[in-house]
Amino acid sequence: MTDNIAVSAKNLYKVFGRRPHEAVERLKNGASRDEISDLGTAAVIDASFDVHQGEIFVVMGLSGSGKSTLIRMLNGLWDTTSGSVTVGGDLITGISAPKLRDVRRRHISMVFQHFALFPHRSVLENAAYALEVQGVPRDERLARAQKTIDLVGLKGWGEKMPSQLSGGMQQRVGLARALAADTDVLLMDEAFSALDPLIRREMQEQLLELQHELGKTIIFITHDLNEAMFLGDRIAVMRDGRIVQIGTPEDILTDPANDYVEQFVQDVDRARVLTASSVMEPARSTVLAGAGPRAALKTMRDLQTSTAFVLGRDRKLQGVVRDADAMKLVRKGVTDLSSILSDDFNAVQEDTSLSELFVPSVESPLPLAVVDANGRLVGVVPRVTLLAALGNVTTDTGDIQILEPRLTVPSAVITDALASSDSDSSVKEDAR
Ligand code: ADP
Ligand code: MG
Repeated sequence: MTDNIAVSAKNLYKVFGRRPHEAVERLKNGASRDEISDLGTAAVIDASFDVHQGEIFVVMGLSGSGKSTLIRMLNGLWDTTSGSVTVGGDLITGISAPKLRDVRRRHISMVFQHFALFPHRSVLENAAYALEVQGVPRDERLARAQKTIDLVGLKGWGEKMPSQLSGGMQQRVGLARALAADTDVLLMDEAFSALDPLIRREMQEQLLELQHELGKTIIFITHDLNEAMFLGDRIAVMRDGRIVQIGTPEDILTDPANDYVEQFVQDVDRARVLTASSVMEPARSTVLAGAGPRAALKTMRDLQTSTAFVLGRDRKLQGVVRDADAMKLVRKGVTDLSSILSDDFNAVQEDTSLSELFVPSVESPLPLAVVDANGRLVGVVPRVTLLAALGNVTTDTGDIQILEPRLTVPSAVITDALASSDSDSSVKEDAR
């Protein structure tokens, strides 16, 4: 695992103030942040984590929790009071200034909240700035900057001046400038926080696309949990200088480490974070294609549901059958399901986000079928489950259950039909 670590932080401390080292000693011996406040402000306390290559690692916390200080230690803008940072396997703590500049130039670029564009330079020249600092010849740097201008969606805007661009577009220039430097690691400190919500959403989506395309390692800082959840492969939650939890968005949402994280989590837009696989339930109403109408009908009766998913031997989803149709076949003595097999249901992939489940869920009263890449049924999402996941409410309230399709043929009638139909010796009633 060690070879794919892009950035590693080990027991980082940063204390601003008169006696920072003494403050760290006391923190290490168990003193609280408040207890050492006369020695200085403990902005970061004992932070350790590894960021993997190609990962989006989000640092999230309220204002003043130490996020900016932490990220500035990762690229050496701040010294650490204690602890060490490695970037691309190279220790950057305590190295000389020229060496540090070199690491920064080759490995890390930074995008700030206030884009810091040069007002009298064109968009293209702004994007080429980092390359200019690196001494890349003019033609080459403009060509490379043009590519990243196109990448961030500003094709045709290269000759404009920053003042002619909206805030969102200016931030795209900031991003293009960081990408032009072609470093493996991007540090983004509240890069989207000043943007309007809709523009911000667009930028988040674009960042994910770019990351997918370019495979950069991104360390992204935000005080917004929704943004953290949407972007982060993993999220580190900071409070009062300490990292209080590191986990995937789902870990943090479903298993918050403490009250502080839980408070944060309460108003997150769960629909964008959770996926079908995280809320699905086992598919109980299923029948193997070869088992026939009697088995299907019995399953539906036992589960009191009007439909059953029909699976091939490999669990591949073939279709759905309804109780009334199966009933007819049983009465006629037909032993093959294929004539009543229907595709009148919606299937979604395991990684489909909840927000993308609404429409299919509303289109069909049946539970959504969740299938894997091979088309095998791995679970179902009944509407009640979807609603419950969004509201984080319990599902056992009678009124919500009514939304689920219930058996349309009375159980007793089914039982009668199963008993009185010509029993076909080749099809066992309880065939599975
Ligand atoms: P965040 O980015 O999460 O808002 P910061 O890292 O900027 O938090 O700040 C963390 C704490 O460190 C705050 O209490 C802040 O006042 C303090 N701090 C940050 N920078 C300095 C500095 N240069 N000098 C003194 N205190 C600072
Ligand atoms: Mg900050």
